[in-house]
Order: sequence, then structure tokens, then C-alpha cells
Amino acid sequence: MEYQPGVCTGMVDGKCFWPRGKAVGGTSVVNYMIYTRGMKEDWDRIAAAGNYGWSYDDVIPYYIKSERADLKGLKNSPWHGRDGELSVEDIPFRSKLSKAFLDAAKLYGHRRVDYNSPDAFGFNYIQATLTRGQRASSAKAFLHKNKKRKNLHILISSRATKVIIDPINKQAVGVEFHKNGRVYQIRANKEVILSAGPIESPHLLMLSGVGPRKQLQSFGIPVIQDLKVGESLYDHISFPALAFTLNQTRLTLVEKKIATIQNTIQYDQYGDGPMSSLAGVETIGYIKTNISNEIGDYPDIELLGSCASLASDEGTIVAKGIRMADWLYNDVYKPIENVESLTVLFMLLHPKSKGYLKLQSADPFQQPALYGNYLTHQQDVDTMIAAIRYIIKLVDTPPFRKYGATLHKKKFPNCKQYEFGSDNYWECAVRAVTATLHHQITTCKMGPPTDPEAVVDPELRVYGISNLRVVDSSIIPRTIVAHTNAPAIMIGEKAADMIKRSWKLF
Ligand SMILES: Cc1cc2nc3c(=O)[nH]c(=O)nc-3n(C[C@H](O)[C@H](O)[C@H](O)COP(=O)(O)OP(=O)(O)OC[C@H]3O[C@@H](n4cnc5c(N)ncnc54)[C@H](O)[C@@H]3O)c2cc1C
Repeated sequence: MEYQPGVCTGMVDGKCFWPRGKAVGGTSVVNYMIYTRGMKEDWDRIAAAGNYGWSYDDVIPYYIKSERADLKGLKNSPWHGRDGELSVEDIPFRSKLSKAFLDAAKLYGHRRVDYNSPDAFGFNYIQATLTRGQRASSAKAFLHKNKKRKNLHILISSRATKVIIDPINKQAVGVEFHKNGRVYQIRANKEVILSAGPIESPHLLMLSGVGPRKQLQSFGIPVIQDLKVGESLYDHISFPALAFTLNQTRLTLVEKKIATIQNTIQYDQYGDGPMSSLAGVETIGYIKTNISNEIGDYPDIELLGSCASLASDEGTIVAKGIRMADWLYNDVYKPIENVESLTVLFMLLHPKSKGYLKLQSADPFQQPALYGNYLTHQQDVDTMIAAIRYIIKLVDTPPFRKYGATLHKKKFPNCKQYEFGSDNYWECAVRAVTATLHHQITTCKMGPPTDPEAVVDPELRVYGISNLRVVDSSIIPRTIVAHTNAPAIMIGEKAADMIKRSWKLF
């Protein structure tokens, strides 16, 4: 992401880090494997905005279709599929702290729910895209067993640089790509499906002449269709920086203690044991903070319970992964490396702050400039502070107290001027560790013809261009109560039916 003053101030170079999975299987190859679909209200609101075919009742069959669930207590649930390609399982490893999290939530009146059913406002263990404890990426789930099909050609180490669009009749006719230093063009018999994710799909559209007129012209790209590509971008940010120390041992995932040969063999042979943990994250829950404007049971925060904190791996994995600066890690977390500690992190579900992306060049190998525009709306800041206060309350309950859970109160060095625990302090802290959960969406927004921001119609066809669809998380038109992997897969399932219907292939 481009430098944004006032956020990620505790990250390396003061910048937020946006990695993507550059692989067959895309970002599902590097993600945290949390399986969430979004709530009924999310999809019903999307449909109510004019996106026919996208209500909860419309999308749920596609989630079920691709799913092969093996979830305790949900064997007969009508909301889960059993015959799909994507395996969804409980995380085999559960620490005692996961139970403490759910027990504490119960004390505050939160119900245990299947958060992937229509009755989702509550807490439970995480459902994950795992096959016997190992990552079920989209490549493993959908491509591996089909890779020898005659009508599927997977070109690795190839980079699409342009969709070829006939400027006269505005029809997509093929794709240009680079492989091993050579440029190729490939023609489409029927249509081109762009599925390069929320950064590269809009980038490729713009390189191909579909995007904001002025922007394309400024880079000498002939404009074929003037659309607001990349002009909306939402993301989910979190704050993984709270740490609660414990007065007992063998409760958390201390990396150097679990990285044993025995645990490795256990994981390798049976897919369980501590190494099957999603870096400590075990439980999930939805809350509505006391400053939410929403009516009814619609959350503004997702909580994620973890039996590890940033200190548990001595700063080698998670802190490095989010690009936390050494000066912050060493000052705040190093002193508790020898004590067991946990965190509860959270996700701001419906940020009001909206970002965007812009071309930087007509050179397809130069990535677009990415602007998260995080925390530019005060309600986002206030909601994050409310979430922190909620978590502190949640951990200050008997289920956690019995392990001596105590908030680590070492001040961030860049926030020392504020009283620890004050609103000013927490605002400074979330601006220091503004960690994205990498759910960028809306850059090729889906919407009806009346939506001035829409790039694709509800059948995912690019406005003004024939034979071109975008099929990935970039089309999601508004924030949803979900990590975006399962929604991206559902979009793929649904698009497959649309395409078959268009070409009468049923
Ligand atoms: C670190 C991390 C953790 C995450 N954790 C979770 C999680 O726990 N649960 C969850 O639900 N979501 C999670 N997400 C988000 C989720 O994985 C993504 O939202 C989802 O994978 C998006 O799918 P997509 O198909 O839209 O894009 P992607 O998965 O990014 O796929 C795009 C594909 O297009 C390819 N591509 C791009 N440009 C080109 C080009 N020019 N030429 C050729 N190929 C190209 C890429 O290589 C990639 O294969 C996480 C993301 C990250 C980064």
C-alpha cells in the first residue's frame, strides 16, 4: 500500500503491507484458512441494491455446492455441503484457552451458533478450509484432480498483461500474456473471464482500456470504456497487538516449545497436534459494539480468539508477517517472550473509510498505486476502540482469570504521551498497528446499471464490453461479515452457472 500518514506508524517504514498469493490457487495458498460466508443481511443488502440473484437464498446453494464439510455437531445441518470439492473442517487442535473464550462469551450472553448458517450472530470454534488438518487451497480443491482435462490448460509462470478488446465493436476477443520473456496472444472462442483478484483484475482492465477516462488518457492508454474501475476499495483491518500474559504454562502455542520432531511427525502423519493450529487462532465471535448504528443483530466487529500473542513466536512469524517495526516489537513484546500470553484480535467489519487504486504506468509489470485510506472516518476509529474495550472486559472474566490472564500494559514507545488505556492511547495504538486481514474488495464493483460506481452487472459482465466477465472478490460491492476466500469461491461457483446459461451449455 502507498504510504498513508497516521496509519501503520509502527510498521516497517511506516507502511502497511499488502501481500497477495502469486500462485496457482491464488491467495488461498497463503491465507489463514478461516472459512466464513457472510451473513444473511450482507447478501440480502447486496441483492436489495439491485444485484438480482445475489440474495442469501440465492448464494447459499453455491456455498453448499462446493463444500465438503466435516464439522462436529453439524453432520445433519442443511447449511453445509458434503459432496463438494472444498473440504471444510474443525481445526484439529484446541487449546484450553479456546474454551475459556467461549465460556467468557457465554457470560456476556453470547450464544453458540453455526456462524455459517443464517443464525450467525454468536460465537464458536472456527471452521477452516483444511483437509485432515492440512491447507485446502483452491488449487488443491478444484484444480489438482482436473489438471489433465483436455479443456483445461494451466500455464504457470505466465503473466497476463492485457485483455484484447476490439475497439470498434467493444468485444473482448482474447488475452495477451508474457511467458519466459515472450509475448503471446490467445483467442477466446466464447468469452474472457478475468479472475486475477482485487488488485490485478482492475489493473488488467485499465491496461486494456477499461477504466476512468482521465487516468487512462494520462498514461496514453486508448479508452474503450470509461468506468470507475479501482475507484472503490474496502478492506478489513484488525488490531492483533493486545497481549494478555498468563500465570501458567503449557496453555499457549510457544513456537520454540511446539516446534518438536514429535509434533512435526504428529502433524505430518495425522494432520493434528499443535502444528495444525491456524497460528493460534481458534475461535470466532460476532459482536455489536455500543457505538454501532445498526438495527438488530448485525455485528460491527468480529473477534478472533488466539492461544498465542505476537510474543509467542519471538517475533519471527506473525510480527514479521505484518511487518511490525523492530523498535516496537523489541520494546513491547520482547520482554514477555518468556511468559505465556494470548491475544484476542478483531476485525472492523464495515469500515466507513474507503480506499482506491490508481495506475502508475502503462507498463503492466508496474503495480498500481494502492490507497487503503484507513481510519479516515472517525467512526472506524471509535469502533476499534470500543472493540478493544470489549475484549479487555471479555478477558477479565473467571474463565480467563483462572489462568491469571492480565493485560500487558507496556506502552507503545510512539504513544507514550498518552495515558495507557485512554481513548487517545488506543487510537494511537491502532494507528501504529493497523494490520490488514487482506480482504480488499469492490475494485470492480458489481451493481445495477443505475449504480454510477458499477463496473460489472449482476451477471458479472463488464459494462459496455461484450464477452468479458470479472469473477473474483473484486466484484463484492460492499463490506460483508466474512473473510473473503469462501465468498470468492462462491462467486466462482455462481459464475460457472451464469456462463453455462449464457452459452446454453447446460
Ligand atoms: C495473508 C492473508 C491471509 C488471509 N486469510 C484469510 C482467511 O483466513 N480466510 C479467508 O476467507 N480469506 C483470507 N484471506 C483473503 C482471501 O484469501 C482472498 O480474499 C481470496 O483468496 C481472494 O480470491 P481472489 O480469487 O479474488 O484473488 P486471488 O486469490 O488473489 O487470486 C488471483 C489469482 O490471479 C493470479 N494473477 C493475478 N494477476 C495475474 C496476471 N497479471 N497474470 C496471471 N495471473 C495473475 C494470481 O497469481 C492469483 O492466482 C487472506 C489473505 C491474505 C493475503
